[in-house]
Amino acid sequence: MLDLTAFDVLSPGSPGYEASPRAKLVVRCHSVADVVQVLAYAEATGARFVPRGGGHCFVDRCPVDGIVVDLSGMDRITVDDSGVATIGAGARLEAVYAALHQHGRTIPAGCGDTVGIAGLTLGGGIGLLGRQYGLTCDRLVGARAVLADRSVVECSEDSEPDLFWALRGAGGGQFGIVTELRFATVPEPSACRIEGHWAEPEPLVRAWQDWAPDAPDGITVNLSVQTGHATLFGASVLPSAETHDLLREFTARAGVRNATDIRPDVPYRFVKPTFAALDPPGENRRSRSEFFARPLSERTAADLLERLEGNRRLAFTAMGGAYRRVAEEATAFAHRGERFLLEEASDPDDPWVDEAWRTAHAEGSGRVYPNFPDLALEDPAAAYHAGNHPRLAALKKSYDPHRVFDFPQAL
Ligand SMILES: Cc1cc2nc3c(=O)[nH]c(=O)nc-3n(C[C@H](O)[C@H](O)[C@H](O)COP(=O)(O)OP(=O)(O)OC[C@H]3O[C@@H](n4cnc5c(N)ncnc54)[C@H](O)[C@@H]3O)c2cc1C
Repeated sequence: MLDLTAFDVLSPGSPGYEASPRAKLVVRCHSVADVVQVLAYAEATGARFVPRGGGHCFVDRCPVDGIVVDLSGMDRITVDDSGVATIGAGARLEAVYAALHQHGRTIPAGCGDTVGIAGLTLGGGIGLLGRQYGLTCDRLVGARAVLADRSVVECSEDSEPDLFWALRGAGGGQFGIVTELRFATVPEPSACRIEGHWAEPEPLVRAWQDWAPDAPDGITVNLSVQTGHATLFGASVLPSAETHDLLREFTARAGVRNATDIRPDVPYRFVKPTFAALDPPGENRRSRSEFFARPLSERTAADLLERLEGNRRLAFTAMGGAYRRVAEEATAFAHRGERFLLEEASDPDDPWVDEAWRTAHAEGSGRVYPNFPDLALEDPAAAYHAGNHPRLAALKKSYDPHRVFDFPQAL
């Protein structure tokens, strides 16, 4: 039996442990060798395990009495002269944006500061720069991973290309434990911060669905709706005058006053964290979601809005732009042609989440973002991976024949 005393084992009550209450052990890894050793320990003891980056998965995937392979000790971030960033799988978004900013660089990534770069990238990665630069996984140029047989592989377009394909959109806990990710960064743009509030959601919901997914790539505005309140928020890397013109066009289309607050250009790193209060964390609420290839019919939109009350919220996220310009089979992320993502969120015990999801689902594309996992789906593999599922299932057999990475809703 391997001796775990040499490892950084988090004990119950220590920071980091609470995030996985079902775990028997939470082991913080500081190197690839640590990861290999923990997998050897798991095999020797017959324990199940789950990798953890930022720990924000909506579903607790840790088996009862399982081992959490926590990668937070591997969070180094470096940027080379060609702009390629090498990021440890335990890094979180706030640290990633800050480190890249030091080099005048960034990547299109998500909004939550504490979200892990690993989980985000391996499931896709949608963010305010995404319509301009694509998914986070579209900027991935290589990764290092420990496979089920404990071999360590480097993958890229030239090395283990099938694995590299699978990690870009379907890699969260499915094929191996990724220890390091390499990204082709982009120059950090200046961005305007956009925010607007209205008391009458209906015309905003209608106009947003027609306009936001087709807006120029450089502007992304999302819409969050609660009872009697619509909030528009986003960022634009377009010239300020053009941003003002576009927002005027949008509010005219909606037939509402142009109440949008547009803050002047600052480096993108300083825009993104200002939305934390508008886009509350996923914990302490339950949400379901689906992609939509067409606007909701007036009747369905009215049904959804009618039953909003209390903490119930509809969140519309714009797709289109650069997301759409990658072929669906080019990476494992299969939802390129969708117009928007709609999320229904409320208190964990509110039956409205399922009711509203069913109402909207009648007009949805049946596709679900793998990073918004949903245990209530009838056919999760088809919903998450659509036409890419057969190739992923074949790769699963070849990379993990004994289903060492065997989570609920695995491939
Ligand atoms: C507050 C908040 C804000 C969010 N904002 C956005 C957003 O703006 N855009 C967006 O696209 N998504 C967003 N999300 C969703 C987010 O992308 C997912 O929750 C994502 O899975 C989180 O990754 P993580 O590393 O933090 O979580 P974890 O729970 O650590 O990991 C998520 C999944 O990936 C697996 N995994 C983690 N690390 C590795 C690894 N190194 N190797 C292999 N598998 C691994 C885990 O086992 C798990 O199945 C947000 C979520 C929250 C809670």
